[in-house]
Amino acid sequence: MTRQEAERQAQEYYKQRRLESDRELMRRERRARSEISGLDELMSKRASLPVSALRAAMANPDRAREISLEMREKGLELNRKIRETLLHAGYPENYLSPAYECAACKDTGFTETESGVKPCACFEKRVNALLSSEKNDCFTGACFEDFKSDFVPDKPLDGGVTQRMLTERIRDACIDYVKTYPDTLYRGMILSGNAGLGKTFLLSCLYNEFRKKGIGAVAISSFELMEKIRTAYFHQDDAKEAFEELESTPVLLIDDLGSEPIMRTISLEEYLCVLLNERMNRKLHTVITTNLTPAQFKDRYSERVMSRLADKRYWDHLRLRGDDLRRA
Ligand SMILES: [Zn+2]
Repeated sequence: MTRQEAERQAQEYYKQRRLESDRELMRRERRARSEISGLDELMSKRASLPVSALRAAMANPDRAREISLEMREKGLELNRKIRETLLHAGYPENYLSPAYECAACKDTGFTETESGVKPCACFEKRVNALLSSEKNDCFTGACFEDFKSDFVPDKPLDGGVTQRMLTERIRDACIDYVKTYPDTLYRGMILSGNAGLGKTFLLSCLYNEFRKKGIGAVAISSFELMEKIRTAYFHQDDAKEAFEELESTPVLLIDDLGSEPIMRTISLEEYLCVLLNERMNRKLHTVITTNLTPAQFKDRYSERVMSRLADKRYWDHLRLRGDDLRRA
C-alpha cells in the first residue's frame, strides 16, 4: 500500500465514521424520546424554533434582531431542560450529543488552524497504522527456530530468573500450546509485557505453526479487529460473515489488544465481549498479546469484558519482563 492509498482509505474511514455517528445519534434519539417522558415534547419544541422564529421575523421585519436573540435564549433554555431531563432519567447529559472519537477534529480528520486546514494527529496515526498493519501482513514467516536466545539479555529479574530464562520458558509454553492442541492445559493464552519483549514474534510463530499443522488460525491486530467489529456493528448484513469467522475459527490470535483507539460506543465493546464469550463457550482457542498491565486493562475495558478475561479456567496468563529487545 502506498502512502497515498493509505490516506485515501483513511479519508473513507472518516466519511463512514461520520455517517455512523449520525446513525448512532438517531438511534439514541429514538430510544430516549420513547423512554423518557417529556423529552419528546422538549425536542420537538427545539426543532421547531428556527422555523417559528423565521416566520415571526418575516411578519415583523423591524423586530428581526430581537426575535433572533429571543430564539437563541429559548434554544439555550430548552437545551438546559433537555440535559436535566436526561440526567433525571439516569442518562448521561451528553447522551444526545455526537460521540466523536476525536474531539479535536470531530472525526473529519482535519483541523482548522490560523495557517489553514491541517491533517489532525489522529489522521496521521491512522495512516501510519494502516501502513504498518499491512507491513506485518504479517504474522507470516516467523517460526520458533528463529528464536535466538542469545539476543535476550541474561539479566537477573525478580523471582530468581533472568530475562533469557523467562523468555525461553514462555517460548516453550507456546511450543507446547501448539504441540498439545487441542488438549492444551488452557484454551486461552494471554501474553503480556512491555513493548519490545517479543510478544508479536511469539504470536506470529504460533500462527505459522498452527497453519503448518493445517489448523485453521486467524491472526489479527487489535486495530483491524476493532475495524471489523465496527463494520459488523454498523453495516450488519455484509460484515456479519467476517465477524462470524472470528467467532468460529479454531484458533484466534489477537495482537496488541489495547492499542486500538478507545471505543466511545459502548455497543462496540459489547461485541468484543460477545466475541470472547462465544469463543469461550464453544471451547475454541484464543491467544491475546497486550502491553497493558491488569490495572490498565481495568481502566480501559468494561466490567463485562474484564470478567471474561479474568476467567482462570480458560486463560493462562504469561507475563514477559525485562529490557526492550529491539534496543538490547
Ligand atoms: Zn482527529
